[in-house]
Amino acid sequence: MIDNYTHKGLRKKLVETLKLKGIEDTAVLNAINKIPRHAFMDSGFVNHAYVDKAFPIAADQTISQPYTVARQTELLEVKKGDRILEIGTGSGYQTAVLLEMGAIVYSIERQNELFKKTKLFLPKLGYRPKKLIFGDGYRGYEAEAPYDGILVTAGAPYVPKPLLAQLALGGRLVIPVGTDTQIMTVYTREEANKFEKEEFGAYRFVPLLEDKE
Ligand code: SAH
Repeated sequence: MIDNYTHKGLRKKLVETLKLKGIEDTAVLNAINKIPRHAFMDSGFVNHAYVDKAFPIAADQTISQPYTVARQTELLEVKKGDRILEIGTGSGYQTAVLLEMGAIVYSIERQNELFKKTKLFLPKLGYRPKKLIFGDGYRGYEAEAPYDGILVTAGAPYVPKPLLAQLALGGRLVIPVGTDTQIMTVYTREEANKFEKEEFGAYRFVPLLEDKE
């Protein structure tokens, strides 16, 4: 993987763009400044890696727009050592952002092709999630619950109950909710059975797919 001065310069500009768009969390901005996003994309798209846009990856999926990654991560309020569950591993770019911020990361992907590809790829860049899981994110990952944060990177038609149930006290679930467009929604677990809900504007994600039996 080549990461040259051109790439580094383009990343600096991208970080400036994200600041102008309102991203304030310096740990998020530092992570984006450091991670070679072009390495997460097919070679044909390298020139597009540092514009603030989503792009196609394998299996008809997308690598989320940098602003969206930054905003979701900021809303998650990640602290070093936090245990985070990501739903929708995809390219692994968001996973890398969380790892760069010192989080312990579990991530679930339902597309086997992507799961296998990203599992091989992340360690090559030195990124080691605690566990990558091939499975259905609607169920969360009970075996390692509770989590300080859960981040859903696909559009959920509704809020899956297991995700709320797997939050630690004080933990945050960041989830885009809706079908055609999604409202970025944050649930904070204030007490065992009490969740605060906040909304942060409209986005457009690929759908969180449900495997119906
Ligand atoms: N975080 C990714 C974003 C990928 S797009 C990145 O930074 O590149 C959303 C991902 O969610 C896709 O890879 C898609 O396959 C996955 N996905 C969709 N429905 C899912 C489900 N029910 N469980 C787990 N992953 C799912």
